Amino acid sequence: MQLLFLGTGAGMPSKQRNTSALALKLLEERGTVWLFDCGEATQHQILHTTLKPRKIEKIFITHLHGDHIFGLPGLLGSRSFQGGDEPLEIYGPTGIKEFVETFLRISRTHLTYDIVFHEQLEGVIFEDDTMRVEAALLDHVIPSHGFRIIQKPLPPKLNMERATSLGVPKGPLLAKLKGGEAVVLEDGTTIKSEDVTEASQPGFVVAILGDTRYCEAAVALSRDADVVVHEATFDAETQKLAKDYGHSTILDAAKTASRAGAKTLIANHISARFLPDDEKILIAQVKDVHPRTWIARDFAEYEWHQQAHKLKKKMENHR
Ligand SMILES: [Zn+2]
Ligand SMILES: [Zn+2]
Repeated sequence: MQLLFLGTGAGMPSKQRNTSALALKLLEERGTVWLFDCGEATQHQILHTTLKPRKIEKIFITHLHGDHIFGLPGLLGSRSFQGGDEPLEIYGPTGIKEFVETFLRISRTHLTYDIVFHEQLEGVIFEDDTMRVEAALLDHVIPSHGFRIIQKPLPPKLNMERATSLGVPKGPLLAKLKGGEAVVLEDGTTIKSEDVTEASQPGFVVAILGDTRYCEAAVALSRDADVVVHEATFDAETQKLAKDYGHSTILDAAKTASRAGAKTLIANHISARFLPDDEKILIAQVKDVHPRTWIARDFAEYEWHQQAHKLKKKMENHR
């Protein structure tokens, strides 16, 4: 899993930061990419990366403010031009279907693939054998949601070397052992599953939150998460403004991550008032509350290391 930030700005694009978009790359896990929000010009940002729009399997929209959805029309059209024919699932608040269908109709855009809309964003909104996504309403000036993406525990791995050395022949016995059963070999020896498998590994938990004031729902979605992506439109000194405008300060984000027991906090949705040099000040404001806090920049990428069970910065990739 990798997190690739395509846009990290608040409200309007600036030269430093485009509006919100974040790619959760699940190429190893499921061969696809999940996109969270799609601010204007997200497809232009994608051009500077190795992402392929046709690999986008799901788009999750936190809320219907323009800085989170104005990039959808162009991206959906390009996904079609580039030969995407796999269906696309869009999860967003009520109104997202009307927004997409209206621009498709008026611009007479015909897509080569189907879109399935999901406008119920409460509780478990997606689940299959390997992943589960939960959603909850946050506290913004319009309905805004957060998502909790849970990778299910990875199945135990078979240690082939060990199995061979114990005399297990290739074939159905191996499958039984992998599935947790014990087997009896021809010579009467019993081999237990745990003799030849490595324990199943826990998956990752990522919380990706939309625009919000500090709220309990954000803490609940972030509970024990490996990484929380939280907006920080304001700094600790403009607490009142943040509240009035339905946003968070970097301190609110850090308190959320800290109360939730989350391991890493990545702050995004950063106001254009803060220049890259100001990031030190923002980090200093939260170092006692949640020390492992990073401020995302456009094109910053973070990589999940399964063995170490830890998220690491991959590169600070600046255009
Ligand atoms: Zn916003
Ligand atoms: Zn907003």
